[in-house]
Amino acid sequence: MKIKAAFFDLDETLYPLGNHVVSLVGEKMNRYIETALSIPREEVSSFREQLYRKYGTTAKGLVVEHGVNLTDFLHYSHDVDYQQNIVPSLELRQALASLRIPKYILTNAERFHATRILKQLQILDCFDGIMDVFDTFPETKPSPEAFERVLWMTGLTSAEGCVFFDDSPMNVETAHDLGFYAVQVGKRETINRGDAQIDRIEDFPSLDIFARNH
Ligand SMILES: [Mg+2]
Repeated sequence: MKIKAAFFDLDETLYPLGNHVVSLVGEKMNRYIETALSIPREEVSSFREQLYRKYGTTAKGLVVEHGVNLTDFLHYSHDVDYQQNIVPSLELRQALASLRIPKYILTNAERFHATRILKQLQILDCFDGIMDVFDTFPETKPSPEAFERVLWMTGLTSAEGCVFFDDSPMNVETAHDLGFYAVQVGKRETINRGDAQIDRIEDFPSLDIFARNH
């Protein structure tokens, strides 16, 4: 199979699972919900869990069910200190440079956050584009419509020959069902459907699909 393009999730895919930056963002999301929606602190976690299960992201649930301003919510919650938590990876930079096809970020976060993370990782210039939640909204991963929208945006007519990397099993499974070569990154949970699994994003050049293309 000829590979046409690669799509990368951002958070906990391009840097390791469990990074402190994710808990910092989560804490700020909780604080926003507590203040804006007057939800008691001890109920915020289960409130978010319900939205996540129903909509795939907290943000979509907040907008659809509670009329929250998406820009306000995302700017507030992603305003955290990246400097201390995200470490540049020369190995990842070299791996991306060896992949001579269009490379895109596909994130349910927003572009400003993605740009800051990619800059901190020192790989911002390795990508041909960033597609964020505002590009796909009201759909977000793992909705099939979100994937179809980004294929359209990048001028691709189908997912055939497209590789997709994500740490989230739901996102990997949907991408696989749509015809992407779907790779789970990290050991979050076992996936039911997918094409490959790697422990670290730096390991992707060792996947068969890339070896066959060289
Ligand atoms: Mg992720």
